[in-house]
Amino acid sequence: MDNNIPDINELIKQFSKLPGLGPKSAKRIILKLINNKENMVKPLAKSLAQVYKNVVRCSDCGNLKIIDKVCICSNDNSYDKICVVESLADMWVIESANIYKGHYHILGGTLNSSENYEQKNLLIDSLLKRIKKNNLKEVIIATSATVEGQTTAHYIEDTINNNKIKITKLAQGLPVGGEIEQLDDGTLFSAFKNRVPVSDG
Ligand SMILES: [Zn+2]
Repeated sequence: MDNNIPDINELIKQFSKLPGLGPKSAKRIILKLINNKENMVKPLAKSLAQVYKNVVRCSDCGNLKIIDKVCICSNDNSYDKICVVESLADMWVIESANIYKGHYHILGGTLNSSENYEQKNLLIDSLLKRIKKNNLKEVIIATSATVEGQTTAHYIEDTINNNKIKITKLAQGLPVGGEIEQLDDGTLFSAFKNRVPVSDG
């Protein structure tokens, strides 16, 4: 589908950046869209515009929320556990594996040993605030078994520095270098079930 229409080429370029798509599959998708302009392009464009306008990241918990609505993290104080993950994708994986039902804290990335979290804009200060405000009993650190994930976990353990709270980490069953998002449900389930305390509450 080589063509001289810049708008189409731009669209192919944008779609090619999506996970799992290369230029070839991007072209296939664009072709499908163009052939279904009314039923597909119109609702897709509308949907994207709505998400762009209305959905933001909550600055307290890192989850997505509707721009002018209160996030679930601030109007539900009935929880005593929080699961700390790197990304939204990790939260979705854990949720869909039915391992843990409860509140999450989405950092928005990881640290490597040479960085401080302020540079990275990770939501660690707000994690401390949530711990205080909600009288949490357990913080489950579910970062990946990568060097960055573990550096981040250590940093959080040190920063929480509160002996009333049990801090747990996913069990050693996680393959080294394993990213949460890539794990199968079974591995994730047992890592979660067998999570180990990193400090005694
Ligand atoms: Zn929130």
